[in-house]
Amino acid sequence: MIPSAFEYATPATLNEAMAMLAADEDAKLLAGGHSLLPTMKLRLAAPTKLIDLRKIGELRGVSASGGGARIGAMTTYAEATASAALKGYAALIDATSIIGDTQVRNRGTIGGAMAHGDPAADLPAVMLALGATVNVIGSAGSRAIAIDDFFVGMLTTALEEGEIITSIDLPALAAGTSTAYVKFANPASGYAMVGVAASVTMSGGKVSACRIGLTGAGPSATRLEGVEQALTGSDGSEASIASAVANAGDGLDILGDIHAGEDYRRAMVSVYAKRAIVAAIARA
Ligand SMILES: Cc1cc2nc3c(=O)[nH]c(=O)nc-3n(C[C@H](O)[C@H](O)[C@H](O)COP(=O)(O)OP(=O)(O)OC[C@H]3O[C@@H](n4cnc5c(N)ncnc54)[C@H](O)[C@@H]3O)c2cc1C
Repeated sequence: MIPSAFEYATPATLNEAMAMLAADEDAKLLAGGHSLLPTMKLRLAAPTKLIDLRKIGELRGVSASGGGARIGAMTTYAEATASAALKGYAALIDATSIIGDTQVRNRGTIGGAMAHGDPAADLPAVMLALGATVNVIGSAGSRAIAIDDFFVGMLTTALEEGEIITSIDLPALAAGTSTAYVKFANPASGYAMVGVAASVTMSGGKVSACRIGLTGAGPSATRLEGVEQALTGSDGSEASIASAVANAGDGLDILGDIHAGEDYRRAMVSVYAKRAIVAAIARA
């Protein structure tokens, strides 16, 4: 399919990109293009102008920040996987190293994935588990959005019109914390039918804190708060994990489609929550 006609611009600075975005309400930002271009080819989106962010150096790269890490929005999955500053965030590397295929990992960006808010994308679950913060800039200035407030519905995030994600901050992991991400991938597309990221802190032989993020199963990524509460204070044994995840899918808004029905996906939430928690604790 051929997209409808559009203009194309490559601003060199964030200020230039913001001015272009403010000047045309039907313009769209272009990052890796791996979600936006297919949508345009299907004519589900028809922006008048694409504002390509790839020449804006300040949006790229990973740096250490306040004991944690700052990931520039235009950092690709492949760059994140290879980054020394992100080595400690095993759940993130679990995800960035298996997203899509080589082309997707070389072009797709962390900021693009977050902005798109695809219900089956991998990174939303990981960012929820890691307690990330999304830094954005718009005509009203800069703001930091806590990840728990970021995903608001199907393909919908807390980003306001005209805002650009500049970076994502990952907090330092507390001592005794280990993380993992596992997914039940659609064999055709590779997208998560159910994906779970776990961050588990062990202290004195007990789980002292944890965050569990779920993607793929419902209209948007969400934390498994019931599992988090049931796991916290337990000894982190396989039996305690099995008990904590037993009803993980209960009460969640779960989607069914031709790939997996609602009941099956709901059952898989428990299965993959257990696998993610076991994998995280095994890395401790
Ligand atoms: C064959 C294939 C397989 C895939 N498999 C997977 C998979 O297994 N798992 C997975 O998670 N994803 C998968 N994807 C999607 C891929 O990860 C996309 O790259 C990602 O969802 C979007 O990132 P992008 O950089 O390509 O963004 P783009 O497609 O360029 O943009 C996506 C949206 O975000 C907006 N945007 C981009 N950057 C910013 C910014 N900095 N600030 C504000 N808005 C911005 C754009 O305007 C657009 O609306 C796959 C894609 C393809 C084509």
